[in-house]
Amino acid sequence: MIRAGLALACFAALGCVAATALPRLVSPIKGLKASDVRDTYNEIHNGHPHEALDIMVSRGTPVHAVVSGTVRKLFLSKAGGNTIYEFDDAQEYCFYYAHLDRYAPDLKEGTHVRAGDVIAFAGSTGNADATAPHLHFAVNKLGPGQEWWKGEPLDPFSKLVEALPQ
Ligand SMILES: [Zn+2]
Repeated sequence: MIRAGLALACFAALGCVAATALPRLVSPIKGLKASDVRDTYNEIHNGHPHEALDIMVSRGTPVHAVVSGTVRKLFLSKAGGNTIYEFDDAQEYCFYYAHLDRYAPDLKEGTHVRAGDVIAFAGSTGNADATAPHLHFAVNKLGPGQEWWKGEPLDPFSKLVEALPQ
């Protein structure tokens, strides 16, 4: 069932990247269970394909790096608010964390983080509803130029769920 769903989603989206190639992830939120996560990747948000997962949490919840890697960019955007772009060690994928209330102290561009390190605290900065703080989490496969702002989005849902207790 799940397999068929994924295949269809990939079939519909030209140039879809197989999420199964992603490295193993660590949960970005401690204590998160598989049943807490909904696949919001294919939803339309504010007129755009969402291409990310929204994980509902309370404000100030620590956000953990999902893989070992490097903080490539800290960026304040109108939609995403405080955001982090993290490249994995192989520099194949960019992990994007948005609507952050604040960054972890001392986190800077170029900082190397281990999977599970606290990198930020969740919130509702940017265009998130202030009454519904959440972590907006996305993954892009980097192109040959390894630009942090580009890349090909892929649905991390199955890989995230694998990392979580049921
Ligand atoms: Zn979102």
